[in-house]
Amino acid sequence: MNIAVYPGTFDPFTNGHKDLVTRAASHIFDKVYVCVVEKSNKETLFSSSERIDLAKKSLVELTNVEVIGFDGLLVDFAAKLDAKVILRGLRVVSDFEYEFQMSSMNKKLNQNIESIFLTPSESYAFLSSSLVKEIAKLGGDVSSFVSNDVKNALLRKFSK
Ligand code: ADP
Repeated sequence: MNIAVYPGTFDPFTNGHKDLVTRAASHIFDKVYVCVVEKSNKETLFSSSERIDLAKKSLVELTNVEVIGFDGLLVDFAAKLDAKVILRGLRVVSDFEYEFQMSSMNKKLNQNIESIFLTPSESYAFLSSSLVKEIAKLGGDVSSFVSNDVKNALLRKFSK
C-alpha cells in the first residue's frame, strides 16, 4: 500500500485542499490520511472537532481518504499509519521556505519518510483558509471556495 499523510490546520477545509487530496487519492496514492493538527500554534477560528468534522463532510465521496486529528510529531504519527509520504501543497514562493525547512527537519527525524509537494490547480492557486475567513468575515460570498457545510459554518461564526 502506497500511503500518504496530508497534514494541516484546515481552518477551515477549502476547495483547494479538496482538489489536492482528490488528485493525490485518485492517481498517486492508495490511501490518504488527512491529518488535522488539533493543537495548532496558530489561533484558529474553528475548534479541532469542528475542523475535523468539516473536512470529513467535504470528503465523504472519497473512499480511500480518511480524516483524523493528531498532535505530536508528524513523522511518528505517519510511521504509525504506515505512511511513507508526507503530502503538502506549494502555492506560492512564500510557502517554499517554511516547507523546505519542515521537510528537511522531518527527513532528519525519520529518513524513511519522504515529503512530496503538489502545486494547486490553476483555479485554486490563490486560495487559502485565511483569505476565505477574511472574505466571510466581511460578508462576501465564499460559495466557490468552500463546501456548503463550510460556508454555513462560516456564516454561523460570523453572525454571532
Ligand atoms: P498549515 O497551517 O499546516 O499550513 P493549511 O490548512 O493552511 O495548514 O494547509 C495545509 C496544506 O494544504 C499546506 O500544505 C498548504 O500549502 C496546502 N494548501 C492550502 N491551500 C491550498 C490550495 N488552494 N491549493 C493547494 N494546496 C493548498
